[in-house]
Amino acid sequence: MIKLSEAFKAFTKIITACLKGKLFKLNFAITYRCNLHCNMCNIWKCYVEKPWMVEEELKMEELHQIFKGFGKFVWISLTGGEPFLRDDLVDIVHSVKDNCRVKMLNITTNGFNSKLIEDRVRDIAEARVPLTFINVSLDGPAQIHDYMRGVKGAYNNAIKTLGMLRMFSDEHSNLSIGFEYTITSFNAGYLKLLIDELTKAELSWLLENLTINLYHEGNLYKNLDLNSKQQVANNRFKFKALKDIDDGLDLIHVRSPLELISRKYLKCAQKYVLDEPVSLRCTALRNSLFLDPYGAVYPCIILGHKIGNLRNYNYDVYELLKSENALKVKYEIKNCNRCWTPCEAYPSILTHLSSLIKACE
Ligand code: SF4
Ligand code: SF4
Repeated sequence: MIKLSEAFKAFTKIITACLKGKLFKLNFAITYRCNLHCNMCNIWKCYVEKPWMVEEELKMEELHQIFKGFGKFVWISLTGGEPFLRDDLVDIVHSVKDNCRVKMLNITTNGFNSKLIEDRVRDIAEARVPLTFINVSLDGPAQIHDYMRGVKGAYNNAIKTLGMLRMFSDEHSNLSIGFEYTITSFNAGYLKLLIDELTKAELSWLLENLTINLYHEGNLYKNLDLNSKQQVANNRFKFKALKDIDDGLDLIHVRSPLELISRKYLKCAQKYVLDEPVSLRCTALRNSLFLDPYGAVYPCIILGHKIGNLRNYNYDVYELLKSENALKVKYEIKNCNRCWTPCEAYPSILTHLSSLIKACE
């Protein structure tokens, strides 16, 4: 489902930005609202426990100013929570398009509310960001997926959403649809079964745009109780995770720049699972940043090292990055190798272009 010519054009611009050694990617959790009850992530509890906090999320007028500050960013990733639950999601995408030099936009979704997603994607495609990826999470065959997502029917809804999104992507050359499989201790080893299920249901087109992710404990997911390090230390988990990675590598060929990066990600993920050095320096805070729904900026989605809040810096990210605390955090994470999560690993891979050549092997 990757549109090759659009992908190459977008990646040329991204690589140019990347070679200049500047910040170029923003990971932005636009809301912590969520309509599922996943067992590997605690975001859904945020507004169950503190419902008033939803009012603290950044408002549209603030977002226009924030995106002006991020004007030079070429890659924007919108996540959540469930991003489609923000009523102004379409306005957010238009603001990104109008204020940033965005070449690639990723929006992740759990795919649960098909009708809502259908209405919003129609308008998002019209914003004509050169390359817009909508990634729906699928964590295994129906039973496993529903167990992980904590709601019966989550798998069927996600499949329905994917079918609808495919129709839109046929009509819009800038829109690509895929699914994201996150390896956790709950589903490790089930990727092959999912692939078989999708093939049987004549959904094998989905396998052309598969992203595999290793789950982590982290600031974004509010799941420090999950303890992914313990998972990785567990031999049974390692064996199953490596099988999923191998099954993924069998499917992901090198037909587009994104697949090249996905392959490199997985080859390094093999090392990460085996506790071997990944050997690529993380470029969080040099090339990418994480912004939470309340305006707080962090180096990445994993670490709780808050740099500051854009609301206190006139919404200007570069002013915030000049602060003493920003320099302190930069120093603290200089040699960090705590995680291997795609949000930050993909920009790190792009920064080490020569490493991509080996991923073709
Ligand atoms: S993983 Fe996504 S869908 Fe699940 S609780 Fe977290 S934010 Fe919600
Ligand atoms: S390796 Fe990079 S992305 Fe991961 S926790 Fe450290 S700084 Fe964050």
